[in-house]
Amino acid sequence: VLARGRTVCKHNGLLILSVLSVIVGCLLGFFLRTQRLSPQEISYFQFPGELLMRMLKMLILPLVVSSLMSGLASLDAKTSSRLGILTVAYYLWTTFLAVVVGIIMVSIIHPGGAAQKETTEQSGKPVMSSADALLDLVRNMFPANLVEATFKQYRTKTTPVIKSPRGAAEEAPRRIVIYGVQEDNGSRVQNFALDLTPPPEIVYKSEPGTSDGMNVLGIVIFSATMGIMLGRMGDSGTPLVSFCQCLNESVMKIVAVAGWYFPFGIVFLIAGKILEMDDPKAVGKKLGFYAVTVVCGLVVHGLLILPLLYFLITKKNPIVFIRGVLQALLIALATSSSSATLPITFKCLLENNHIDRRIARFVLPVGATINMDGTALYEAVAAIFIAQVNNYELDFGQIITISITATAASIGAAGIPQAGLVTMVIVLTSVGLPTDDINLIIAVDWALDRFRTMINVLGDALAAGIMAHICRKDFAQDMGTEKLLPCET
Ligand code: ASP
Repeated sequence: VLARGRTVCKHNGLLILSVLSVIVGCLLGFFLRTQRLSPQEISYFQFPGELLMRMLKMLILPLVVSSLMSGLASLDAKTSSRLGILTVAYYLWTTFLAVVVGIIMVSIIHPGGAAQKETTEQSGKPVMSSADALLDLVRNMFPANLVEATFKQYRTKTTPVIKSPRGAAEEAPRRIVIYGVQEDNGSRVQNFALDLTPPPEIVYKSEPGTSDGMNVLGIVIFSATMGIMLGRMGDSGTPLVSFCQCLNESVMKIVAVAGWYFPFGIVFLIAGKILEMDDPKAVGKKLGFYAVTVVCGLVVHGLLILPLLYFLITKKNPIVFIRGVLQALLIALATSSSSATLPITFKCLLENNHIDRRIARFVLPVGATINMDGTALYEAVAAIFIAQVNNYELDFGQIITISITATAASIGAAGIPQAGLVTMVIVLTSVGLPTDDINLIIAVDWALDRFRTMINVLGDALAAGIMAHICRKDFAQDMGTEKLLPCET
């Protein structure tokens, strides 16, 4: 037994450490909450977790660029287009399924009945329209400046403008005041002033702008296009393809070494977040049912529907597959970022699940950018929850609108913490729900974000497994033509 235990520990050392670090992080966080640390002490305490996030983010750019360019360049045109179409179709289909699961859950549990509207704080801030948000999504696909795309995204800025009654914007409305004298009971005389100035109309103006954060979608589109073109260039593209293959391999080696720091970082990331959160009892009372609805939906989709799809298509055991990516799921739980988890998802798929690296190189970066089943499910639940809280009856057409816009909003969400909260405005405005009510759900969003990110990552990993199965013949034939470096064989 001892010898067996030692072998299990040897092969799963990092995974066991990661599981332990989640448990220790939770215990430490709840213990330290009782010690009433100052904000300064909390920020020092969070430092090791911040380092983990920085390390992971540092690897995103070289990993996405090198994997897409080398992955697609090493496939022939027929194989890459088949893989591309199948992957994107599968992603859209599973995201839509996730939305349907969310809608069914929120309709059955009806969490909006238990929530109190007066708990909201109205922010009064202007928000972007859904048309602007959708246009931003398309603009981000075509970054005007590639260097800027590595640290900024395009995001339309909405500013309020006062419109005078005559229609001219930014002009103060003319005041109209009538002064007079009024007799009171025939004796006292009073002066009065009647202000008839029409109230100014506030309109919102959209302007071009940017927001911090890498434009991963733009970088994915550029790298994928470059990869396809390099593949068509034949021998003249070989130097750049070899460079990308080497870059990819070296990033994966960094991941292997840095992996030993991850469990330590996870402890501080999780405990640090627990130290920051609002009183869990008060939040639970207000939003407990809503949180339970989202988590139930995520569990049904992630542990039932997706594994079932995997089993039906591949006829392989999904539990074994999920065990292989457990470490990536724990990193997703700790970081709330599918982009930051990407290096670990790669490592798990290649080392534990033995997925063809050319498939992983295409399916994973694209998935981390556009495939967010957990986010789509959460956006649909949140929008219907807000409708329920406002006693707003949604008709069938509006439910369909929510399912389509939740799918689009999840595609537009970046793989970073709480990005889904930002793109939810698309869903709310599409059916005329108040966007200020996003404030209703903010208190639990940081926690739900961790669970939905796990499902986002799981969805990408299972997709890679399914694509590896569906395209196995193409890849077996393509093996002879693949340009592999000695370090990759
Ligand atoms: N945090 C999520 C992710 O990185 C996105 C979101 O739903 O906010 O996948």
